[in-house]
Amino acid sequence: AKELGGGGRLEIYAAHMHAKVVHRLELQTKLRQALAEGEFLLEYQPVVDLESSRVTAVEALVRWRHDGSVVPPDEFIGPAEESGLIVPLGEWILREACQKVAVWRATSDWDIGLSVNISVKQALSSRFVETVAGVLAESGLAADVLTMEVDEEVLLENPGEAVARLSELRELGVRLAIDDFGMGYASLAHLRQLQVDEIKIDPSFIRDLGTDGTVTLLTHTIIRLGQDLGMQVVAEGIERPEQLERLRAMGCAYGQGFLVAKPMASDGVEALVGGEADISMA
Ligand code: C2E
Ligand code: MG
Ligand code: MG
Ligand code: MG
Repeated sequence: AKELGGGGRLEIYAAHMHAKVVHRLELQTKLRQALAEGEFLLEYQPVVDLESSRVTAVEALVRWRHDGSVVPPDEFIGPAEESGLIVPLGEWILREACQKVAVWRATSDWDIGLSVNISVKQALSSRFVETVAGVLAESGLAADVLTMEVDEEVLLENPGEAVARLSELRELGVRLAIDDFGMGYASLAHLRQLQVDEIKIDPSFIRDLGTDGTVTLLTHTIIRLGQDLGMQVVAEGIERPEQLERLRAMGCAYGQGFLVAKPMASDGVEALVGGEADISMA
């Protein structure tokens, strides 16, 4: 009976694993169809100059409209990376966002920048740099309007190649940002290997600003480090007025977060263009 029980558990375990694999494969098939059928859409979250409250850039964030609901990227970017779909999906995201921003720039005096997230698989795919150059040429966007946000994992997984590829990108004139800065192992080492234009402080630091002394000191240190290295520093995940006040007092120049502005559809950004890009902040 004991043996049978053990075997049963093993079978249940195997069945569970099987179900997971099948679920993943189904998801990957659906994602491929979604790209073909135009089910992806972009939202744009403003990045704001904390001093003047002006929107200086927008970050493109992908969503999947599926079965009547909107699926967030955390649920499909991983599977899209595993299946390789992230390469054509990433290209769609880049093209869509560049075209939109090119129109916004052409129809206003607004010197708006664009940030796009890229993942490891995408950065290491062949022809990546060519694709970026092609999309910029097509949309007529100057390279320095575009910032590519990479997570530190990009640099951990394949440091030599990733650094080489991102450096090529930067030679095109594209700006580079390290996203979720401070969370990875070798945040500081990466700044030695790669020319970085911007660091985005991870929201976990902002969350505990003012309540946790160590976190507050670390945040201040990151801000000064960025300034000393001539980089733009963006605080992410600002949700409360006290956090905004602290960041301003610490000299943090740029910020993003629900308090400032939530991610919005493109017509929301168009309304901002009409309103001269000012956002009212606490
Ligand atoms: P991320 O690049 O760090 O983007 C910031 C995320 O924080 C977004 O979530 C945004 O909606 C959310 N956020 C902004 N302000 C606040 C705030 O005040 N409070 C809280 N709680 N959250 C805030 P989202 O859109 O769900 O994206 C999650 C992650 O998915 C992104 O993190 C990024 O790593 C990835 N992602 C999104 N779009 C793309 C894309 O086009 N390509 C790739 N490769 N990854 C993407
Ligand atoms: Mg980002
Ligand atoms: Mg990111
Ligand atoms: Mg981030």
